[in-house]
Amino acid sequence: MDNQTKALHTSFFHDDPYGSLSMPVYHTAAYQFPDAASMTEAFSGRSGEPDYSRTMNPTVTFFEDKVKALTGARSVTAFNSGMAAITNMFFATTAAGKNVVSSCHMFGNTYSLITHTLAKFGVESRIVNLLDLEQVRKAVNENTACVFLEIITNPQLEVADLKSIAEICHAKHVPLVADTTIIPFTEFDAKTLGVDVQVVSSTKYLSGGATSLGGLIIDYGNFPEFEKCVKTELLFNLGSYMTPHAAYMQTIGLETLHARYGVQSANALELAKRLQTLPQVKSVGYVGLEDNPFHSLAARQFGPTAGAMVTIDLESEEACFRFINRLKLIYRATNLFDNKSLAIHPYSTIFVNYSVEQKAAMDVLPTTIRLSIGLESVNDLWADIQQALGE
Ligand SMILES: *Cc1c(COP(=O)(O)O)cnc(C)c1O
Repeated sequence: MDNQTKALHTSFFHDDPYGSLSMPVYHTAAYQFPDAASMTEAFSGRSGEPDYSRTMNPTVTFFEDKVKALTGARSVTAFNSGMAAITNMFFATTAAGKNVVSSCHMFGNTYSLITHTLAKFGVESRIVNLLDLEQVRKAVNENTACVFLEIITNPQLEVADLKSIAEICHAKHVPLVADTTIIPFTEFDAKTLGVDVQVVSSTKYLSGGATSLGGLIIDYGNFPEFEKCVKTELLFNLGSYMTPHAAYMQTIGLETLHARYGVQSANALELAKRLQTLPQVKSVGYVGLEDNPFHSLAARQFGPTAGAMVTIDLESEEACFRFINRLKLIYRATNLFDNKSLAIHPYSTIFVNYSVEQKAAMDVLPTTIRLSIGLESVNDLWADIQQALGE
């Protein structure tokens, strides 16, 4: 069955008494049992029945089952935000005295989590250039908890060679963890690229209409203790499981992901090409463009589409502010992969609390605008961009 069919056809764990076509929202904290023995079966995890919604809920399980069917993962766990999924992943892999090998090219909060928050718990961060395999090889040792990367970094749009990094990891029995938020997991096979665990902010493509926050840990089962830790320790002790209402909205989003992504990625490619023709635009960042340095690697790894995030560089920070202020159709907002197109100046917003030196080290430039391309007609978007860049 193709992914687009799988996204729509998922069986319920129990038949619904009313034959409901959409999974109901089980807005309950706890569950009643027929007898003491079935309580034991549920609490031990043997029956697969929920006992308390901090760790299991039928609406959330249904959402997790859909993602499992779409990825072929061994286990999927849903959280209340992308950051909660990433935090749980690090709690499952790291411990005091261990190190995390990663890059400074990544989502700002994840970078801060690794270099600042985890450091408070005695976890060392080893920040390397992931494009330089020798640096990665030197950084990974027997104390490495995981190598963590983003498949296309935000906002620098850097793409690392996953198979080569996975080889380095696996030679030392270290898991490779990839944040795959930027390209939907339905578009490529992360497992065959050597990824052991995917983390995803489902706030983005999955929810679609920016309806809710969510995060996923998608585990391929190569490190069996990992799943055990997430499911039997962290869900209980950290308490960041997805809520049923968010799972309901994200399930609806996931059902239409294929159709939405097709339009959004095609719009993004078309706009990226047109943006390259404008003299006011100094450069266009989009790995779907054939002259992008990461184009062939990205196509080999992630398939023919390149996502719906496009960056443009203008001549100055002032030109960026002017462009943002003049937009009439594209929203001035953060977030990615909403149905509606969004624009933001990352340097003065998402990275506002980083020093000028830190931003320079992270290659976050004052001249960059990040666009998230939505489902509008490409001609309407183009007209808005042109008028905002005009005289
Ligand atoms: C948004 C984002 C996150 C964080 O996800 P939230 O759902 O906002 O917590 C992590 N990684 C990437 C690449 C993101 O774009």
